[in-house]
Amino acid sequence: MKKTFDIKVFISGREFCCEECYGNLGRKAWITLVKDKGALCLSCADLDHLVFLPAGDAALTRRARKHSTLSASGLKVEPRPKTI
Ligand SMILES: [Zn+2]
Repeated sequence: MKKTFDIKVFISGREFCCEECYGNLGRKAWITLVKDKGALCLSCADLDHLVFLPAGDAALTRRARKHSTLSASGLKVEPRPKTI
């Protein structure tokens, strides 16, 4: 069976520090969640070669998935509303 990678890439809504290199990536940083490691920057997760495809172009996304073994879906992380 072909193994498909489903990596979730998030855009941080607040200041973000990578848990591996401790780099401060600031706001709107691209991060990913790695099992047993936590939230990492894309360089530490070996994902910095990924190209972001904007949502909405289904044909392009399909073609990109077909020709690459690795793909990630982007999600924007909004800061949690403050609870009073
Ligand atoms: Zn890092």
